[in-house]
Amino acid sequence: MRSQTLSINKRRPVRQSFLPFHSPVIAENEISAVVEVLKSGWLTTGAKVQEFERSFGEFIGCRHAVAVNSGTAALHLALAAIGIQRGDEVILPTMTFGATAEVVLYFGAKPVLVDCDPDTLNMAPDGLEAAFNSKTKAIIPVHFGGQPCDMERILRFAREHDLRVVEDAAHALPAYYRGRPIGGIGDITCFSFYATKTITTGEGGMATTANPGWADKMRMLSLHGISHDAWNRYSAEGSWYYEILCPGYKYNLTDIAASLGVEQLKKCNAFFESRRRIAAAYHEGFADLPEIKTPVCKPDVQHAWHLYVIQLELERLSINRRDFIEALRQKNIGTSVHFIPLHLHPYYRNTFGYRPGDFANASAVFERIISLPIYPKMTDADVNDVVEAVRSIVEEHRR
Ligand SMILES: *Cc1c(COP(=O)(O)O)cnc(C)c1O
Repeated sequence: MRSQTLSINKRRPVRQSFLPFHSPVIAENEISAVVEVLKSGWLTTGAKVQEFERSFGEFIGCRHAVAVNSGTAALHLALAAIGIQRGDEVILPTMTFGATAEVVLYFGAKPVLVDCDPDTLNMAPDGLEAAFNSKTKAIIPVHFGGQPCDMERILRFAREHDLRVVEDAAHALPAYYRGRPIGGIGDITCFSFYATKTITTGEGGMATTANPGWADKMRMLSLHGISHDAWNRYSAEGSWYYEILCPGYKYNLTDIAASLGVEQLKKCNAFFESRRRIAAAYHEGFADLPEIKTPVCKPDVQHAWHLYVIQLELERLSINRRDFIEALRQKNIGTSVHFIPLHLHPYYRNTFGYRPGDFANASAVFERIISLPIYPKMTDADVNDVVEAVRSIVEEHRR
C-alpha cells in the first residue's frame, strides 16, 4: 500500500468551476459493458446478474450474494428473511438515512432509535440495553461513512438476547473489522450501488449471507415469490413453468445494471485507494486547525472512506454550519450533510414522540457536521482547493 499523502500547496484563488459533492467514475469499460448487454437482446435479470453476484460474493468472501435493485430493497428482504413481523421492534441508529428505518415500518414493526458515538458517529453500543425489550427481534447497525461499527459488542449483545443482526453497509465497501470483511460478519449484510456510493450500478443493491435458507428466501422474494427450485427443475432454458410460493416483490436487478456492477467491482480497491489518499490529505490539511474536528478512525478497522465528515468546533467559530456550507459553495466547493438524525424528522417526531433534544450526541453533532467531497475523480488540485477553502473560511471566522 502506498502511504504518501498529497502535498498541500500555498493559498490558491477561488477555483473556476464548481466541484460537485460527488461524481462517479464511468469509463470506456463500463460503457462498452452496458452496450454489449444492450446488443445481446437480454436486458433484464440473467447471466450478468449471476456473474455480478458470483464476483461480489468472491470479493467479500461470503458464500451467498443476492442482487436486487436498491440497497433499500436488500434491507427489506433481509428483514423478511429473518422473519420480522407486525409488532416486532428493531434497534437502529438515529444517525442514518431514512431507508434504514422505513424498511422496519414496511412490516408494521417499530424502529427503536439509539444515539451515536460523538467521535465515529456510529451507533453507541451503550444505548442497546435501554432500547431492548421483549419485542426486540433485530439490530441494524449502520457502518457510518464506511467505518465499521463495534461489531464485537453488537454481536455479543445480539447473542445474549437471541437477536438477528442485519448490517446496513451502504457505505462500507470495501471495509474490514479486525481483518474480516464487512459482508461476512453479521447475519445478513446489505450494500447499496446508488449513484453516489463507492461503486455504482445507477440504482442497485446486494445482500450477503452465509445462510443458504435466508439467501434462497431473499432471492425468491426479489422476484414475485417465484420458486427458483421450480425454475431449476422445470425451466432449463426458458420453459413456461413456474411456481409462486408466496407474494413477493419486484426487486430484481437488470443485466444492464449488473454489467456496470461487474466493471465497477474490478476497480473497487483502486477507488478505495484514491479515497484513502484524499482522506489522508484532508487529515493533514486540517491537522493544525482546532476549529475543525476531523473523523476519528478506530485502530482495528479499515474505514471505506465513503464519507469524510468534519465537525465544526462551533465554540471557536463565529459562523454556523449553514453559513459555512454556503461559504464553501461561494468558493465553488460542493458539500452535503450526513445525516439529519431520524428523530428530528417530522414523521418520527409525530409518530414516536421524539423531541429535538433527544439523543444528545446526535442532536449536538448534527449542528456541526459537513461532508466534504471524496471520490476518485478528484485531482490533487481539487483536494487542495477543498483544503484551502475550508482553511480560509476558518481563518476568516476564527473567534
Ligand atoms: C444509500 C443508503 C441506503 C439506501 O440505499 P439505496 O440503494 O439508495 O436504496 C441505506 N442506508 C444508508 C445508510 C444509505 O446511505
